[in-house]
Amino acid sequence: MELKQRSASQTLNQESNWPITTFAHRARLAAGCATLLFSIAKSLVLTTAAPRAWLESMLAATVAYFTADLVTGIYHWAIDNYGSAQTPIFGSQIVGFQGHHHRPSQLAKPPVAYNVHIAAAAVTAVVTPINLLCSDPVFLLFVGVFAGCVMFSQQFHAWAHTPKGRLPTLVAMLQDAGIILRRADHAAHHRPPFNNSYCIVSGVWNRVLDRSKFFVALEVVVATALGHEPRSWSDTISDWSEKSGTN
Ligand SMILES: [Zn+2]
Ligand SMILES: [Zn+2]
Repeated sequence: MELKQRSASQTLNQESNWPITTFAHRARLAAGCATLLFSIAKSLVLTTAAPRAWLESMLAATVAYFTADLVTGIYHWAIDNYGSAQTPIFGSQIVGFQGHHHRPSQLAKPPVAYNVHIAAAAVTAVVTPINLLCSDPVFLLFVGVFAGCVMFSQQFHAWAHTPKGRLPTLVAMLQDAGIILRRADHAAHHRPPFNNSYCIVSGVWNRVLDRSKFFVALEVVVATALGHEPRSWSDTISDWSEKSGTN
C-alpha cells in the first residue's frame, strides 16, 4: 500500500527521500506564472485607460483572495473524504493527500515547482483562453488573483508545515500577518477529530466553516442524496493520523 501510494503520487530521490523535481514540473510552474502575470498586466493596462475601474478592480482582487481560500477548503474536504486511487483525474491527488495525513512534515521538503505543478498546469489551461478573449479589467484581475491563490495554495500549505526558522523572512511575515496560512491554524487539521480546517490559502474561512458545521452539513447532504459517507465518519485514527517513523 505504501509503495502504491508513493508511485501514484510522487517519484522519490532514493538517498534523500525527497521528491524529484523534473523539467516538466518547472516548465508547468513557469507557464502558470506567465499566465497569471499576463492576466494582471492586461488588467492594469486596461484599467489605466478606464480609471474609474480602479476601485472595482481592487474590490474584485479582495473578493478573489477570500473566495480562493473558501474554494481550496471545499476542494481539500472533497479530496480528503471521497474517492480513491481509482478515481479518474483526481486519484493521484486523493492518494497524495491521504499520504500527507500520515507524513505531514514531508510536505515541507519538496521545492515549489513540485508542490504546485499540477495546479499550475490547470491554471494555464483554464486562464489562457480568458486572457485572450476577455477585455474586462475587473474580471481579469479577479481571475488573476483567484487563480494565483489557488495555484500557490499547496505551497502555502507546505509552508504551514515548515519550521519557522527555515521559512524565508517574507513568508514568515505573511504568515504572522495571517495573509497566508498560519502554521498554528493548519495544525488543527492534523489533530482529532480530523474533520476541520480544510482551507489552505489564508485559512480565514476555517473558523467560520468549522463553527457553523458547514462541512458536516455537506457530508449529511452527500450521504443522504448519493449514499456516500465521508472518510471522516469512519476509521478516523488509522486513516488520518500521523504514522510514527514515517517522517
Ligand atoms: Zn487533509
Ligand atoms: Zn497539512
